[in-house]
Amino acid sequence: MRVYNFAAGPSTLPLPVLEQAQKELLDFNGTGMSITEMSHRSKPFMAVNEEANALLRELMNIPDDYSVLFVQGGASQQFAAVPLNLMKNGKADYIITGNFAQKAFEEGQKYGDVFAAASSKEANYTYIPDMNQVKFRDGIDYVHFTYNNTIFGSRFTQLPKTNATLVTDMSSCILSEEVDVSKFGLIYAGAQKNIAPAGVTIVIVKKELLGQHMPITPTMLRYDIQDKNDSLYNTPPCFSIYMSLLVFRWLKSLGGVSAIQKINEEKAKMLYDFIDNSSLYTNKVAVKDRSIMNVPFVTGSEELDAKFVKEATANGLVSLKGHRVTGGMRASIYNAMPVEGVKALIDFMKKFELENK
Ligand SMILES: *Cc1c(COP(=O)(O)O)cnc(C)c1O
Repeated sequence: MRVYNFAAGPSTLPLPVLEQAQKELLDFNGTGMSITEMSHRSKPFMAVNEEANALLRELMNIPDDYSVLFVQGGASQQFAAVPLNLMKNGKADYIITGNFAQKAFEEGQKYGDVFAAASSKEANYTYIPDMNQVKFRDGIDYVHFTYNNTIFGSRFTQLPKTNATLVTDMSSCILSEEVDVSKFGLIYAGAQKNIAPAGVTIVIVKKELLGQHMPITPTMLRYDIQDKNDSLYNTPPCFSIYMSLLVFRWLKSLGGVSAIQKINEEKAKMLYDFIDNSSLYTNKVAVKDRSIMNVPFVTGSEELDAKFVKEATANGLVSLKGHRVTGGMRASIYNAMPVEGVKALIDFMKKFELENK
């Protein structure tokens, strides 16, 4: 029996995608072997790699002067790859809105003069700083921010106001809502939240930013090398790229990003409306900054939180325990979480509230 899986990552995948992968696991397209067993330079895999790249471009409307790379090392590797590749003047500003933003900032410090232009740490990351107030330094190579804060459940709804290159970590929100890629110099995202199994990390980078890396940049982290080799400089995470392709096809069949955005907004609204009207549950994030992907909530009692998670699990609603730094609960409601899953969660929350008055 399939459960409703609210894990933050690795996370739930669309059932039709899993079924297709299962069907093709022993024999991919008449090759007599699975996609994980063949050379990454074989025709069938190269076709998968190409179609995945082209479909992501189509889904996100990525302009031609951007390169789409499939790399490894997770989003965390990009915390280093970004400064190594883009800091030609050795200077960048960061906006600190959560744990991952802080980690990116700390990694950046190893490679240059980085500055926290704004932070919401003093309020336990419960809001996004007002972009009209944030000032950036002159002569910076880029501004880095985390578009959706997976742990704290907040998201940017306004871009930083600057002429500097914008770099954003979209690990937990890529393909969840429409974004204008042309506003960014670089977007990166680990696949295991909203796309595919762990393994592949997507980098979308404006071509004019390629080739400015520091001399010490490891070959594997150089965007220009990955670009020149169509992300096949070395063995790529073949299975994760293949699964990404299946998810991209699934998303396209649903009507693409604008269609899934409507569903995501509907799911998030249902859950937040319920939480806001309940006398047991609270979500502490500023309403205007609430994530539509990750919804943290608490009952106000650690004991009751633990009971909630336990009983939810017994009811087929799993991985609702909040991140260790926040406690409480967190429902990650990524693209692959059906509306019915959110409805089932709300029904359970109602019942639990009545029983624990
Ligand atoms: C999960 C996550 C990361 C870390 O991803 P890894 O692939 O495990 O390195 C970084 N940033 C954000 C926003 C995330 O959600």
